[in-house]
Amino acid sequence: MNEHGLIDSAVGKARAAAPMWAQASISTRTHLLRSLADALEAGKDVLVQLADDETHLGAPRLNGEVARTAFQLRGFAEQLELGKSQIRIVDEAVVGVPPVGRPQLTRVLRPLGPVAMFSASNFPFAFSVLGGDTASALAAGCPVVIKAHSGHPKLSQAVYDLALNVIENQGLPDGLLTLVDNASRGAGAYLVQHPDIAAVAFTGSYQGGTALWKLANERPRPIPFFGELGSINPLVALPHALEQNGEALANTLAASMTLGCGQFCTSPGVIVLLEGQASERFVGQLVEALAPIKTHAMLTAGILAGFEQASAHVGANATTLLAPGEADAGPAPRLYACDAATFVANPALREEMFGPGALVVKASDLEQVHQVLDAIGGTLTCTLWGVDQDTPANRALVHAAEAVSGRVLFAGVPTGVAVCAAQQHGGPWPSSTAPQTTSVGYAAMERFLRPVALQDAPVWAQG
Ligand code: NAP
Repeated sequence: MNEHGLIDSAVGKARAAAPMWAQASISTRTHLLRSLADALEAGKDVLVQLADDETHLGAPRLNGEVARTAFQLRGFAEQLELGKSQIRIVDEAVVGVPPVGRPQLTRVLRPLGPVAMFSASNFPFAFSVLGGDTASALAAGCPVVIKAHSGHPKLSQAVYDLALNVIENQGLPDGLLTLVDNASRGAGAYLVQHPDIAAVAFTGSYQGGTALWKLANERPRPIPFFGELGSINPLVALPHALEQNGEALANTLAASMTLGCGQFCTSPGVIVLLEGQASERFVGQLVEALAPIKTHAMLTAGILAGFEQASAHVGANATTLLAPGEADAGPAPRLYACDAATFVANPALREEMFGPGALVVKASDLEQVHQVLDAIGGTLTCTLWGVDQDTPANRALVHAAEAVSGRVLFAGVPTGVAVCAAQQHGGPWPSSTAPQTTSVGYAAMERFLRPVALQDAPVWAQG
């Protein structure tokens, strides 16, 4: 069968399974989600070895990711038991003429239908075959067609086999989860355009995400595209925070920038400082902390090439504070600097360096800090160090951070995204194509549920 035939077959199975899964009881769905978590944990040793061979992320990180992935699956099961997929709003009929008078209305949530899910390269468990997108879509009552990532094909197949086994053992249709592997870019495009696909979940590059987002919108019947694209995660560090604690903060920041060889969507890529002694000292401490750090190999040769190209691009437009030293298994950390006006004027400096690199932007006053955040426009996170006091200036800064990002941190570093109900992972374009939604945390399930208002419906139809 050719690629299109394979996709037709996978989507056809998903379409056939959709009505049954949309109507499946909460206990049927929670049983599946929890059993998938159990199976993943039971297969952990073999899977982590496979993942390490394909991604180089190392066993400690990968074991942690399996734990997170199982936690997510179970977490969505708990959300179902709390009734989060069955929220109903009832407005009783009011006698009289509109606008006061009205019919009886019940607002319910219904699953969208088959979801095409593009696995991420940088989370081979937590954002791949059984990751957050799959868990939230299944919880919502939607079958999932998985486009495996070419960076970890063997792992994708192994996790899929294990999941299919669980599905079949529970007597559920195999169309609940189908896998499209070894697919070309054209096949990925065909999947997004398939008339029986109702929504797309994507995590990856700006270029790839934008191309697929356009295709989703150009369909005869456009569909929701939940894409998480690039993010440069500014961190604003005010001088008094650095005066108190500069060295410890520099060490924390260096560790965050280089964690996983910088291959996190939340990696801090732009450090915004106010000109002055405290900031200068901090920059020195950051360079000192970064220089000896050794990184592991990057996920793919393409991602390494992309990082080298992006950092060379930034380097050509900025001053080099830490030139890349000798590569270890992975590329050496690097740090660049420019002033705020240059950053605002030059879009090349706002390119995501997906790897262990960052750009220090020096602002002469708070107004310039605002201009820098404004120029960034859309980012998953914005970190503010030193805004503890309730002052008009701090309020304005928090407001500016909220305007451009989905998560504002007042302490710590942005890497590490807790899976919980209050989480928000998304932000204005390009960090997300749907900034009113999240791809991490339990609200992620809402992406795959569509509200329907039932007017004067008999009781049996309001379930
Ligand atoms: P990617 O190249 O965007 O690939 C993600 C998925 O989309 C893969 O399945 C890929 O297919 C597919 N794809 C990409 N472009 C396509 C197109 N034009 N048409 C159809 N399908 C397409 O992302 P990646 O491989 O994960 O990493 C590459 C770069 O993305 C990194 O260097 C980094 O800059 C960025 N990235 C950002 C984040 C983030 O969260 N901000 C996360 C990961 C990566 P293949 O499997 O065939 O490649």
